[in-house]
Amino acid sequence: MLKLEELTYLWDNWEAIKRYIESAKCCFLAFDFDGTLAPIVNDPAKASMTECIRDCFLRLQEVNCVSVAILSGRSLDDLQDRIQVPGIALAGDHGLKVQLPDGSKHYLAEKPSRNIFRSLIAEVDEAVDHIPNIQIELKEFSLTIHFRGASEKRGAELEDILGRIVESTPYRLQPGRMCWEINPDVDCDKGKAFDWIKERLTGNKSNLFQLYIGDDRTDEDVFRIMPDSGISVLVVSAEIKSRTHAEYRLNSQQDTVEFIEKLTAYLSGQTGIS
Ligand SMILES: [Mg+2]
Repeated sequence: MLKLEELTYLWDNWEAIKRYIESAKCCFLAFDFDGTLAPIVNDPAKASMTECIRDCFLRLQEVNCVSVAILSGRSLDDLQDRIQVPGIALAGDHGLKVQLPDGSKHYLAEKPSRNIFRSLIAEVDEAVDHIPNIQIELKEFSLTIHFRGASEKRGAELEDILGRIVESTPYRLQPGRMCWEINPDVDCDKGKAFDWIKERLTGNKSNLFQLYIGDDRTDEDVFRIMPDSGISVLVVSAEIKSRTHAEYRLNSQQDTVEFIEKLTAYLSGQTGIS
């Protein structure tokens, strides 16, 4: 794993990326959503994809042999509402539920029990009720407890409370950017979803340009399984200070937007890809 200061700035590798794309038969481009395609906002319900990214994704639909996927902790339905671009594969609930560009939906692990989930929600609700400025984001199979409106001290307090609740359930507690995620403890994560979607959309061609950009700890599951030939990129922020499996960095969400614009312009004008 690398320290953040050891990551290569992605723009410094732009010429090499172009050469790589020129020699590749196909491209598989995958992205996290919040903090990557959409700026982080205080109210997660108000997050929306940067408009020029939507334009880029629409343009990429016209390019042969370029596949795009978005992998998020949000529920699949929520993600779909916020993307609204046809032809893109989407993975919700950290890869548990996937929608392919043909509209087909797939569970990559067994669906957790509704009853257990409902009682977990009630328990969490009751336990954090007294803590001010906490937001609970309810997904189809998971929960995110945001403390961006509170303080880091509240975050530590929440870890104790939520850890005790989750202990005796088939769920696991995972840290995120100013939040705690309670996810089903199943053999499924964004890394599995990345590989699964890639295989279906590209047939795992040997000469494949593959890229993943994400900003948070659950994106490490993709960075970790990225083959040596792939480009794994962390969008750095003051909220994540730990080491990473990513190899490259972008400096902000805006930096990410500019990179995707440049990549789209290059791919749109690139005749070598067929
Ligand atoms: Mg994110």
